[in-house]
Amino acid sequence: MTQSTPTSYGTVTEDLPARPIWPAVLRGAKAKCPACGIGSLFEGYLTVRDHCPACGEALHHHRADDAPPYFTIVIVGHVIVSLVLSVEVAFHPPFWVHGLLWGPLTLISSLALLRPIKGALVAYQWALYMHGFDPNAPPEGPVPDPALEARQ
Ligand SMILES: [Zn+2]
Repeated sequence: MTQSTPTSYGTVTEDLPARPIWPAVLRGAKAKCPACGIGSLFEGYLTVRDHCPACGEALHHHRADDAPPYFTIVIVGHVIVSLVLSVEVAFHPPFWVHGLLWGPLTLISSLALLRPIKGALVAYQWALYMHGFDPNAPPEGPVPDPALEARQ
């Protein structure tokens, strides 16, 4: 099946097998390998394995970077701020009640969401052949500057 794949260096049309995005993202959100759904995606809390222990799929190509904490902050922030305002308007509790409620709830919900969001993002990159997941991608590393090379 021919697939048009957007990558970080442009759109490449090539003969790559289509990878269903949503099943892969759901597997990643469950901390499972996006390819087989059996092997564990992480070793530890957030460290992505180099290869799937079940099917051997290379997983080290991911570039999740700051996206998982960004999305976690956006989601948790919207939910917690909405709850804080709703509770304040409805009950007018003393300040210490707010601190007691929202501090731990923010911490727990952030830690609970960070891992599934990172897994889903790694799986999304895998499903779209982004970065090194594309077998035809140029080698990773610094890109040589043609202007700099012309001077040499
Ligand atoms: Zn696997």
